[in-house]
Amino acid sequence: MIIDGLEVAVTKKRIKRMNMRIKEPDGRVVISAPYGTSDFMIKSFVRSKRNWLDKNIKRIVERAEAHPAPKTKAEKEAARRELKARIAERLPQIEDITGLYSNGWTVRDMHTRWGSCNTKTHHLNFSLMLASRSDEELDYVIVHELVHTVVPNHGADFYAMMDRFMPNWKSIRRGLHRT
Ligand SMILES: [Zn+2]
Repeated sequence: MIIDGLEVAVTKKRIKRMNMRIKEPDGRVVISAPYGTSDFMIKSFVRSKRNWLDKNIKRIVERAEAHPAPKTKAEKEAARRELKARIAERLPQIEDITGLYSNGWTVRDMHTRWGSCNTKTHHLNFSLMLASRSDEELDYVIVHELVHTVVPNHGADFYAMMDRFMPNWKSIRRGLHRT
C-alpha cells in the first residue's frame, strides 16, 4: 500500500491493535493490523505517525550504511570471532577497574538491544551488532551491563555508577542510538 508516497507492507493478523516497525537495513515500513482493519484506518495510522516515521527511516538507513551488518554466514562467523576476542580482552580489564564482575558471557545475534545482564546469575549477553562498533562503544555496553550486576534497574543509583565509571557515557550512548 502506498500512502502519501510512502510504501508500507501490511499484514493482517489475529492481534488487538495495529503496530508498525521499520526494518533494517533498508528502512522498509511493515504494519501488522487486526483482521477487519480498513484501508482508511491504516492510512490514518500512518499519517499520524508520519514525522516519526520519516525521522526513523532516515536514521535506520544511515546506520545501516555507516555500520553494515555481516550478510553471509562466513561474514557473521568472522564478526562473531572478532567481537569475542575484543570482549575477552576488554571485559576482564573493565571488571578490575570497576570492581564489578560478571559470571560468564555470550555473544548473541540480537537486534533490539546492545547487551543484557541476567541480574540473578550475572551472566552477560552482548549483541553481535557490536562487532561493527568502536572500542569505546563496546566498553560503554560492557560497563552498562556490569553495573546491572549490582543495580538491576535504570534508577538514580544506576546512573550515578555510570557517571563514576564512565563520565562521558551519555555521549557514547547517544552515538549508539543515533547511528
Ligand atoms: Zn540497562
